[in-house]
Amino acid sequence: MKKPDFVGCKEDGTIVLGNHVSSDGKVEEHNKAIVFSHAHEDHVTNNSIADAYLKDKKVVMTDDTRKLCATTMLCNLVSDYNLEILEHGKELEFDDFSIELLEAGHILGSSQILVNDKKYGKLGYSGDIGENINSFIDADILVLDSTYSGEHTNRKWTMQDSMSQLVEDIKKHIDQDDINIVADPGLLELILHELNIWNRVPVVIGDKKEAGWSQVYKEKHYEQPNAYVLKGSDDERELKIQNQFNITVAHNRSKLDENPKGITYIAKNFGIENEEPINEVSEKFKLVGLSCHATGKSILNYVEKVSPDIVITDSSRTNTENAKKLAKIVQQEAGIQSFTSDEIKLKKI
Ligand SMILES: [Zn+2]
Repeated sequence: MKKPDFVGCKEDGTIVLGNHVSSDGKVEEHNKAIVFSHAHEDHVTNNSIADAYLKDKKVVMTDDTRKLCATTMLCNLVSDYNLEILEHGKELEFDDFSIELLEAGHILGSSQILVNDKKYGKLGYSGDIGENINSFIDADILVLDSTYSGEHTNRKWTMQDSMSQLVEDIKKHIDQDDINIVADPGLLELILHELNIWNRVPVVIGDKKEAGWSQVYKEKHYEQPNAYVLKGSDDERELKIQNQFNITVAHNRSKLDENPKGITYIAKNFGIENEEPINEVSEKFKLVGLSCHATGKSILNYVEKVSPDIVITDSSRTNTENAKKLAKIVQQEAGIQSFTSDEIKLKKI
């Protein structure tokens, strides 16, 4: 099959799935719809949704993605005429194409996207994918998340090991010191769920976004803190008078004080090839290898299950080197023709 020019990824990160559909970026004038794979900010922004509404295009996402976006975004995510909520496993039909979303196992509401286009065939975008996916899009051409290449295969521990060690470590210190937990949106709420100490420590300190995401997870029966007090508020000061030790949670390191009091855990995708999942920079500062992204063999596994004719690795959201490595590994190990997205020249329409 020759190199396609109707599917790929633009420099600004927009995924192109034929003429009618874009994903995770800016909608084109000639598009009919834009699909958002999940609620992380490098995939969806208030502006990208508002811009699509303004151009009178359909905006498609799962209800969980909608709810997570609505915790911080100002655009109408309740009743806009252009907003289409599409659940996993259901199809949205248009004249010349249809859109289907499947679970991507990355964060709540995250989706793999399949566009079945009468002219171009079955065009897929993995979105960000996690390790435990059970159903796979049936794509002929697959745009693939390249956060990790498939070369990380030497790890001696699993993500579950890392999670349980983290939870154990936090529990050990909870009555002795302040605790700060930093993790990406989605991963943080999973950690809080696994921690499940909310009868003992009902209130945590966080920002509006952490509180909002936690609430959405709680509605989906994840164990979450009973309440949040906002950082910098009077309530926070009061809590600190009441309790000797507190837990602060954040989606970004920058939301914590420069030198936060207590023990700080940063669970941010690094050190995933290290000997141990938790690496102490100091007694009070620990880096935790924990990720919601598929790594190593599980990426190749995913590609083999989707079994497309062509794979295009997304080089806009990661360093180009990872996208290159991943394309090479897919080509060699799965025997599937692979390109990085910057090797694809998208045609002008
Ligand atoms: Zn993501």
